[in-house]
Amino acid sequence: METAKLVEDVAFNILKQAVIFLPEDVKQALKNAYAEETSETGKTQLKAVLDNIELAEKYQAPVCQDTGTIIFYAKAGSNVKGLDKVEAALINATRRGTKEIPLRPNSVDPFTGKNSGDNTGRYVPVLNWEIVPGDVLELTVMTKGGGSENVCVGGMIVPGEGIKGVKKFVVDAVIKAGAQPCPPNILGVAMGGGADVSMKLAKKALLRPLTEHNADPEIAKLEREIFEALNLTGIGPMGLGGKTTVLGVHIDYAYRHPASFPVAVAFNCWAARHATARIHADGTVEYVTHKLNW
Ligand code: SF4
Repeated sequence: METAKLVEDVAFNILKQAVIFLPEDVKQALKNAYAEETSETGKTQLKAVLDNIELAEKYQAPVCQDTGTIIFYAKAGSNVKGLDKVEAALINATRRGTKEIPLRPNSVDPFTGKNSGDNTGRYVPVLNWEIVPGDVLELTVMTKGGGSENVCVGGMIVPGEGIKGVKKFVVDAVIKAGAQPCPPNILGVAMGGGADVSMKLAKKALLRPLTEHNADPEIAKLEREIFEALNLTGIGPMGLGGKTTVLGVHIDYAYRHPASFPVAVAFNCWAARHATARIHADGTVEYVTHKLNW
């Protein structure tokens, strides 16, 4: 099959998988939270979320009405042929997905407020490239809702404050966000790099499965500490109180300028939608996070 058509079809499929079927790790974390939640209101909210997930799967309808901004991550083997056609194929998949799945048109010109109607526009869908050795093209899509995007925050702490300053930055961000990002949330936290790098890393960290902690035990410990601190805030499911404010905290970092200490916090809502597939050199497709359910 022609590369562009194959990429378009695979991108369409992962987009459809992502908006309808939440990843297994997210569903499991929500089920665990429901079992452990002690607040009655919190439990009711989690039950509504779990029922909603079940209905979305049953009727093959998007799990939330806000189907988000479409963000692709393309991890391309340097020997993959037709890489110059990938971007156009992803745009076509987005247009098709908007019509056929369907997705809410969420792409608006910031000057005129005019909606493009098909989830495309200048720099949208967002495309992040990574070139690696090999001949496999791995495509991931994340559909990022507006409520959780609105509270993402990047800033600079005083370098002398160090990790203590990072913890305060994250806790402050979550308390300020309150109910807005439809908790329970998943947080990507990144430090260093620069204002742009830290936010990119924080957002990408949202893709890590909830069952995986940072490979560095010290960072994994910090993830755990922040996770526990956030679940003591009492914000709870949908911000209505309870002990489940976050389902997970994923940390990443880059080296920084000695005078700067950027920190970024990316929020994902309970509808943490993403899906991944790999296209092999012989044209076979491996769906990594989901089964093809249709
Ligand atoms: S924050 Fe998430 S769950 Fe809430 S409305 Fe937006 S996409 Fe839906």
